[in-house]
Amino acid sequence: MTVAGAMVDVLVIGGGNAALCAALTAREAGASVLLLEASPREWRGGNTQHTRNLRCMHDAPQDVLVDAYPEEEFWQDLLGVTGGRTDEALARLVIRASATCRPWMRRHGVHFQPSLSGALHTARTNAFFMGGGKALVNAYYRSAGNLGVGIRYEAPVDRIDLDGTRFVAARVGGERIAARACVLAAGGFESNREWLRQAWGTNARGEHPADNFLIRGTRFNTGVLLRHMLDSGADAVGDPTQAHMVAIDARAPLYDGGICTRIDCVSLGVVVNRDGRRFYDEGEDFWPKRYAIWGRLVAQQPGQTAYSIIDAKAVGRFMPPVFPGVRADSLPALARALGLPETDFMATMDAYNAACRPGTFDHTRLDDCRTDALAPAKTHWARPIDTPPFFGYALRPGVTFTYLGLRTDETAAVRFGGAPSPNLFVAGEMMAGNVLGQGYTAGVGMSIGTAFGRIAGASAAAAAGKERADALA
Ligand SMILES: Cc1cc2nc3c(=O)[nH]c(=O)nc-3n(C[C@H](O)[C@H](O)[C@H](O)COP(=O)(O)OP(=O)(O)OC[C@H]3O[C@@H](n4cnc5c(N)ncnc54)[C@H](O)[C@@H]3O)c2cc1C
Repeated sequence: MTVAGAMVDVLVIGGGNAALCAALTAREAGASVLLLEASPREWRGGNTQHTRNLRCMHDAPQDVLVDAYPEEEFWQDLLGVTGGRTDEALARLVIRASATCRPWMRRHGVHFQPSLSGALHTARTNAFFMGGGKALVNAYYRSAGNLGVGIRYEAPVDRIDLDGTRFVAARVGGERIAARACVLAAGGFESNREWLRQAWGTNARGEHPADNFLIRGTRFNTGVLLRHMLDSGADAVGDPTQAHMVAIDARAPLYDGGICTRIDCVSLGVVVNRDGRRFYDEGEDFWPKRYAIWGRLVAQQPGQTAYSIIDAKAVGRFMPPVFPGVRADSLPALARALGLPETDFMATMDAYNAACRPGTFDHTRLDDCRTDALAPAKTHWARPIDTPPFFGYALRPGVTFTYLGLRTDETAAVRFGGAPSPNLFVAGEMMAGNVLGQGYTAGVGMSIGTAFGRIAGASAAAAAGKERADALA
């Protein structure tokens, strides 16, 4: 076993947005900081490297954001998508912090740009990172390096030593790294396929649904530390089957497919399962408010697969995915090309087309194009699928991040039996479940990680200062 030399003030475990925000803030507060990232340098940045934007409250137009997005509207959006499974005090803290974080982000080299067309109608609510999450990650690492934050790659922490509720040291294999305070920001457990399998269990068809999930982001978020903390008595929040899950192209790679494998044409067409049947209202609400429920919906279908079907009218109205769709000049030919049962598929399509009421199609508002006497209904943007060529995309559930995490408070402290640890803090996906009990609204993951990363960094620096003072006393 090796023992580290001079004790660092703040140890940050993880290498994505939450960890970097914590490390930068702790360093700015005067603490010495060491960051441990599990991945090699070229894969640094966890899921954050795949992000594009963060959701920001604002009362008036602000640089890249148009109009206003007041606190109450943000809160109501969050309340809606979580169905009330959120901690209001912590959620409001995140919302308010989102109004003021961008000047700080800019100081550390993050640049913003207006939303791109086709980017989920987000010009008012979401500030986009110039160069995406990869540029943000690079900027933060550069700034951290310039400020003297120590950074170690290929340093996966497998457990930590506690003295009661107090953090003492982290273990990386045989190495013990002591510090005065610690921030846990090591992501969820979405890349741990065995844990996902356990959490989702077996369904009524005898399938293990999780075996067919794809992981949209990093392979390094294995939840080893989360499991260790829960086993060590840290208070949990959230349900292990709740996650941000998107319907993605079934041809996506197992890990790190990122944003370009998302299929964004659901609300412009219909979705059928492998039996050729529709199973949910594709036009329930705007896509930014609904895209994150479709992974779960697909997970409940036989074989955890489904097919998004559109016609020529939809082309050019959504962000094109990286793989072209399967194309055919008739719907029966499309069914054959996708391997769907032709008769059942055509019965579904004929019933849908006949049920579409005339209306004025407008994808930018909840329009009056809907179906009549059809179950399930399509309540907006319902137009007959009748104009060749037709396209179909096979879908699979794509897990973005899991919500089971560590319960925390406004200081970001890890809690044990309701009592806050004096020097152990948590940020990002590892605690996002405090705010997101279920559901999602685009960009809030980065809002949570940025707010709590900075709080955790400040709290850890203060705790380290106190530990130092206590040691001298
Ligand atoms: C494809 C995709 C697109 C997304 N787009 C957006 C978006 O536009 N806006 C948005 O708000 N959110 C988005 N998200 C969600 C967003 O990525 C997360 O909410 C956010 O990045 C979480 O930050 P984090 O620091 O908690 O986790 P991560 O960025 O995942 O970082 C976790 C880090 O911990 C490291 N780690 C894991 N285990 C250990 C260990 N034992 N020891 C040491 N290090 C460890 C990992 O290597 C990684 O660096 C997206 C996610 C994906 C996958």
